[in-house]
Amino acid sequence: MAELVDHLAELTGFRDRELLDVTLVGVLRDLLQPSPASVAIYRSVGEPGNERWLTRARQRAGDMAASADPSWVEVDQLPVHAAYPSRLEAFRRQAIVTVAGGEVHSTLFPVSTDRESLGVLEIESAAALDERDRRMVLSILRIYHNFQGLLDYSERDTLTGLLNRKTFDESFLKIAAEPPPAAGSQDGRRVAPSNPRSWLGVIDIDHFKQVNDRFGHLIGDEVLLLLSRLMRASFRFHDRLYRFGGEEFVVLMRCAGPEAAMLAFERLRRNVEQFAFPQVGRISVSIGFTGLRAGDTPNAAFERADRAVYYAKSHGRNQVAHHADLVARGELDDEAKVGDVELF
Ligand code: GH3
Ligand code: MG
Ligand code: MG
Repeated sequence: MAELVDHLAELTGFRDRELLDVTLVGVLRDLLQPSPASVAIYRSVGEPGNERWLTRARQRAGDMAASADPSWVEVDQLPVHAAYPSRLEAFRRQAIVTVAGGEVHSTLFPVSTDRESLGVLEIESAAALDERDRRMVLSILRIYHNFQGLLDYSERDTLTGLLNRKTFDESFLKIAAEPPPAAGSQDGRRVAPSNPRSWLGVIDIDHFKQVNDRFGHLIGDEVLLLLSRLMRASFRFHDRLYRFGGEEFVVLMRCAGPEAAMLAFERLRRNVEQFAFPQVGRISVSIGFTGLRAGDTPNAAFERADRAVYYAKSHGRNQVAHHADLVARGELDDEAKVGDVELF
């Protein structure tokens, strides 16, 4: 009993979702006796029609620690849903699925939050889990579910479900500390340090005040909600999307270079321009973005992207502006020290 309570304390001791998943698989490997051959949590990611399994945490017998797919992994490198039919069944039916195959029994539990189905917890053991084991796993998953709900409540904006501003600084510093993907291993070249890998974009709706004035705040809120959906559809699953307040949105993302970042922001700009918002019709957004630099602070990077938004606003709106580009063209001053090295 004391052991169980210790484990629950451990499980709810982190506010970091990656650590939470790692702790969940570790706790289950310790609590289930005999210890299962493997405990893993897989998350469903990717667009409808191209859904994949991301390994959030997996610990097998003999592993010192859980392993996971890196957070920046490309969707297309992950296994497709159909590659694991029993996982897919548990996920789709939101029901426990068991597979008895020779030496290994797999038990798959659906994992969800109040907002969405997240994925599947898979336990592989030599013998089938008995009723007591299953009940314990379900209880632990309920605690996990409730805790995710609390995290969502404190980290997400209630209207759009995007991350809120409070969590931005923490993620920013985490992204800045993450090692860049091993780009050199693919083509044998190292990416030049002047080619940033992490990007921050600020998105501001054009003439949004007029939307509120003409259609009222409720319709205005609906536009904000729909815009957040267009953002989810326009960026990749590992990009971090924020609502900073009002009609201002922020994206933190990782991609190869300025052209790729420009393409991603252009995709959003175009998707917004082409979307028919109920009652309101067409709206547009102005976007400014910047590459993260060595020693960047969240405020400094935000400030650069925001100045690019301001430029876009004063040059016709409905466009994407890259801060470094504007500086190179002499349109903006770079207030940072000359000689700053860009890291990512
Ligand atoms: P610009 O193209 O220069 O960005 O013009 P704008 O009208 O979008 O800019 P401004 O910043 O002057 O106005 C933002 C408006 O956003 C003001 C306010 O009416 C509206 N707004 C801010 N927060 C919310 C919200 O939570 N819901 C709704 N419906 N409107 C909001
Ligand atoms: Mg604004
Ligand atoms: Mg605006």
